[in-house]
Amino acid sequence: YRDFAETDLSVPVLSGRKPDSERFPGALHSYTIEALMPDGQALQAGTSHNLGQNFARAFNIKFLDSDNTEKFVWTTSWGLSWRMLGGLIMAHGDDRGLVLPPRVAPYQAVIVPILSGKGRDEVLAAARSIASGLAPAVRVRLDDRTEVTPGWKFNDWEMRGVPLRIELGPRDLAQRQAVLVPRVGGGKRSVPLDGLAEAVSSILAEIQQTLLQQAKAYLDGHIVTATTREQFAAAIAARSGFVRVGWCGAEACEQALRREGGASPRLISTETPGGPCPSCGGVARHVVYYARAY
Ligand SMILES: [Zn+2]
Repeated sequence: YRDFAETDLSVPVLSGRKPDSERFPGALHSYTIEALMPDGQALQAGTSHNLGQNFARAFNIKFLDSDNTEKFVWTTSWGLSWRMLGGLIMAHGDDRGLVLPPRVAPYQAVIVPILSGKGRDEVLAAARSIASGLAPAVRVRLDDRTEVTPGWKFNDWEMRGVPLRIELGPRDLAQRQAVLVPRVGGGKRSVPLDGLAEAVSSILAEIQQTLLQQAKAYLDGHIVTATTREQFAAAIAARSGFVRVGWCGAEACEQALRREGGASPRLISTETPGGPCPSCGGVARHVVYYARAY
């Protein structure tokens, strides 16, 4: 899950085990990845559950083991679905609309030919040839609509989150070049038609990385560590993202933190605890991340 979220969706996540209070009913352990949305709330983006033999007992699912006795099977349950899609949209979107990472974008690049005045047939023919040259390595769409202006198309495809726009006008064609405009990160540039395929794939890889880095910087900038109840309450009230605390393991201490402003323990991390448990001041055995959540 973590690899998929980060490599394909450019959405960095925290991962770990759910505390018993948040565990899937009937599971021995539940594991989760949690992403942070722009409003400072956590999104449980994917979970997996070790169901042990509980469900096998309930449904009488057995297997014949090598010692020739029947035993209940061990089962797991995995879920990553629409919620992750919502997370993807919320994590990267901006005021101009959707922003999709190239690895999952239905169209990775759109070609917008400037079809006004002289040379329009040549421009359209060149745009078609660019499209067929880029496919199938790049999922490319040629927007040859004539009923709307190029400017209208620019906005339309930005809103739809297409990672890269390729503009081609009569002047570009005369100079044997096209203009590449990434959806994020700036860096509009003219590229010779001869090297276009290489330029497009390297810019798409750049965009994928830019999105991950932006989202990672946001996540890292929205994790605060609290060592006292007061610090914890203030961080939750400020809606500042994840609050990292030590936990002694006592349920009463978890309950005490839950009462501070509507946050829930999102996961128990594998990190080694440093500070005290903010609730009781005792020695922390775990590191737990709290947040308000969807
Ligand atoms: Zn405690």
